[in-house]
Amino acid sequence: MRGTGFQSIVVLTGAGISAESGVPTFRGPDGLWEGHRVEDVATPQAFRRDPALVQAFYDARRAALARVEPNAAHRALARLDAEWPGDLLIVTQNVDDLHERAGAVRMVHMHGELKRAFCLACGERQTAPDTLSDGPACTRCGAHGRLRPDIVWFGEMPYHMDRIEAALAACDLFVSIGTSGAVYPAAGFVQGARHYGAHTLEINLEPSEGTHVFHEARHGRAGDLVPLWVGALLDRDRFRLNQPET
Ligand code: NAD
Ligand code: ZN
Repeated sequence: MRGTGFQSIVVLTGAGISAESGVPTFRGPDGLWEGHRVEDVATPQAFRRDPALVQAFYDARRAALARVEPNAAHRALARLDAEWPGDLLIVTQNVDDLHERAGAVRMVHMHGELKRAFCLACGERQTAPDTLSDGPACTRCGAHGRLRPDIVWFGEMPYHMDRIEAALAACDLFVSIGTSGAVYPAAGFVQGARHYGAHTLEINLEPSEGTHVFHEARHGRAGDLVPLWVGALLDRDRFRLNQPET
């Protein structure tokens, strides 16, 4: 048993971890996402009704990635990934690429990725070109104008659920960072992890909708709190490991 007592960690992240990088969160103070109602840009119905609007929206989000950088919270989780000797899975709801640009490897994008696309004609998943609005060809079947963002919209099934459920059942520490706790199934992960006996910690700017479910909550900016939490976890572990057995 290591010093902290923890062996296996699941970290869930949401839009709040990227806020200090300059990526707006989902529901701003006006209740809109970059000026749009969520129903108008993030559902399969919206895509059927107005594909040009939805493609333009995600093209703009993808282009914006070139203007942002990972922040101290992404870097701290990448450090945790590199140095934590036990199991770790970082599950992000984010569609940006800031975790991987910071160096995280043990991670999954449960809601897809801006930089990926899939073909409605043949199903092939592929790297997204800079813009999908102009109807580029699929790299596999050659069809034009059939690529859509590889984003999990409301009403669609999130990715990697089997792997995530298994990690939640096996973890002894679950940490939720920068998420409002409003979008399911991610918002239910804390209950699942608790049910299987994990200690649960929330790190968020403000109490989330599910804050009462967590054993512990720390409220403030992710860029301040996540490096402190990771530092304490790794250093405590190292300190204890260096102590003689008693
Ligand atoms: P959300 O916008 O609903 O909630 C964000 C939470 O982060 C809020 O509770 C807010 O108080 C908190 N927050 C804001 N700034 C913070 C900071 N500096 N430090 C710590 N916490 C901070 O986001 P969500 O819960 O991730 O909702 C989900 C949906 O939004 C996901 O499906 C995701 O795909 C999509 N989305 C992703 C991005 C992205 O990829 N960066 C951006 C916007 C929306
Ligand atoms: Zn195709």
